[in-house]
Amino acid sequence: MFRIGTGFDIHRLVPGRRLVLCGVEFEFPFGLFGHSDADAPTHALMDALLGAAALGDIGHLFPDTDPEWEGADSIRLLEAVVALLRRKGWRVANADLTILAEAPKIAPRVQEMRERLAAPLGVPVDAVSVKATTMEKLGPIGAREGIAAQAVALLESVS
Ligand code: MG
Repeated sequence: MFRIGTGFDIHRLVPGRRLVLCGVEFEFPFGLFGHSDADAPTHALMDALLGAAALGDIGHLFPDTDPEWEGADSIRLLEAVVALLRRKGWRVANADLTILAEAPKIAPRVQEMRERLAAPLGVPVDAVSVKATTMEKLGPIGAREGIAAQAVALLESVS
């Protein structure tokens, strides 16, 4: 049995924060603002995984009112989501992410990001796709006010 899920996330770019996308840190004068490390593509991926299993969303699982998740490494949160899915009888088949960002350049780091996500997902690197697009300078993302990401993930029942 297969189940599919989608996820979306967006965070504001602010000065004085690290920029972490798919667990990979970028040299950039701005970072994403949020309670955790604000890794928007990893958040979108977790929501896709939870959505596929109809297990709610990361806001429900890791509330931003909980000091335990302050500054949290989103890759650790992803491990927790995958562990929850395993307990519910699911394994990840594949995932596909699109990052919407005017800057920095994502493409040179894509391989690193795929490897970073494949490990916690428990899948080979060729089952994780990371893509990026600019917004052609349109809207708040085009104006570099934030970075967004969308994800789709497929789960397969273990039994
Ligand atoms: Mg988020």
